[in-house]
Parts: sequence; structure tokens; C-alpha cells
Amino acid sequence: MKQSALSPPQRLRRMHDTLAAAFGPQHWWPARTRFEMILGAYLTQNTSWKAVERSLSNLRAAGALTIAGVRALSLEELRRLIQPSGFFTRKAPAIQALVAMLDSEFSGSLTQMAKAPTAPLRKRLLDLPGVGPETADAILLYALGHAVPVADEYLRRIVERHQLIEANRRISYDDLTGLTREAFAADPEPERRQLFNEFHALTVAVGKAHCGRTPRCEGCPLVADLDEDRRV
Ligand code: SF4
Repeated sequence: MKQSALSPPQRLRRMHDTLAAAFGPQHWWPARTRFEMILGAYLTQNTSWKAVERSLSNLRAAGALTIAGVRALSLEELRRLIQPSGFFTRKAPAIQALVAMLDSEFSGSLTQMAKAPTAPLRKRLLDLPGVGPETADAILLYALGHAVPVADEYLRRIVERHQLIEANRRISYDDLTGLTREAFAADPEPERRQLFNEFHALTVAVGKAHCGRTPRCEGCPLVADLDEDRRV
């Protein structure tokens, strides 16, 4: 099938609708509180969600799934509790640095932190150890309620395989979030945050089901968007 005359952002916007129809509401992020979401964003780096759940379960059992709970832990205790999700020697001090910043700059209040303007808050998060663009944007979107897109490896694969960005280089994180912003630019402002929320969750869903390291296009909801000669 030859591609339609839709622009890449329009195709990405249509992909959202197709995935939403195929998979339904995703109810992300899988966390009971905003702080638990933030912990999950740190712990999920370079590991599976199952491993994250084991660490969260340890923290819950130790009464440390709250800001006060983490604050009360020694570095060694925190390392031990989050050991199942790996890289604990790096992740434990990174989590403590986030809590220290929250305490010193926002009186220990996520509500106060959420009220900060998006751009400087994103920069502040990126200045913390262990926080790259994906973690910062996930925290901004899912824990603090800011309307920012989140991109990951699944989205990069989809964009690359569907040739939504022509690049003689690895497609960057900013390329992906820029394209996502364009895709939802015509949507009304109040709805955009929820659209970014769902879109990221839906790309993870289709990535896990079909578009991993080896794509399985047969049965994939997005196959109609892909030229026939590129289907695997
Ligand atoms: S599995 Fe195939 S059709 Fe589905 S998103 Fe990946 S490349 Fe596209």
C-alpha cells in the first residue's frame, strides 16, 4: 500500500486513534501515588517492570513508599530495598538527591513542585543525578501533571520503521518529542496532557505486543500505515 498524503505528524496522530481503538484506555502510570510513580520512573531505568515491582514491594513492606519513608532510610537500607531492579548503587543516591531537592526547594511538597513552570522545572530535574529526558518527562507528565510528551525506545522503533522522520543518523529523543508535539498541536490545550499520557502508554503497549527488537507486523494495529514492502 502506498502511503497517504498525510504528513508525518498527522500519521502519528492517526496512530494514536488506531491504538486507542485497538487497546482501549491504558490508565497510566501504574502507581497508587505520585511519589510511587516517581520511584517507578527511577527504578524502571534499564530493567523490566517485574523487577521494579519487586523493589516497590520491598519499599512498601518497609513503609518507605512515601517521601517521609524514603527520607528516613539510610543510603544502605535504600540500596538493599531496591536491589531487585538493578543499578541500585546509582539509583539509591539518585532517589535521595530528588528527595533532598524536593525538601530544600519545594518544602517537601510534590503539590508545590507541580506548580512550578514546566521549562525551569524540567531543567531542574535534568540537573539531578540519574535523570535523563525520558525520566524527567515521565515525572512531569505522570506525577506532576504537566502537558509534556514522553518518548522511548518503542516510539523510536515505530517512527523509524514507518519512516516518519527521515534521518541519516539515530533519531534523537528531541526528534521524537518534537514530532509528538506536532501530532497533537491541533488538539485543545486541556485535552493534550491526557493525550500525551495515553499516547505514551499505547506506544508501549504496541511495542510490547508487536514492535520489539524484531517487529511482528502481522496482526499489529498499525500495519495499515506501513508500506507493504516494509512489513515483517
Ligand atoms: S510491528 Fe510492524 S506494523 Fe506494528 S508498529 Fe512495528 S513496524 Fe509498524
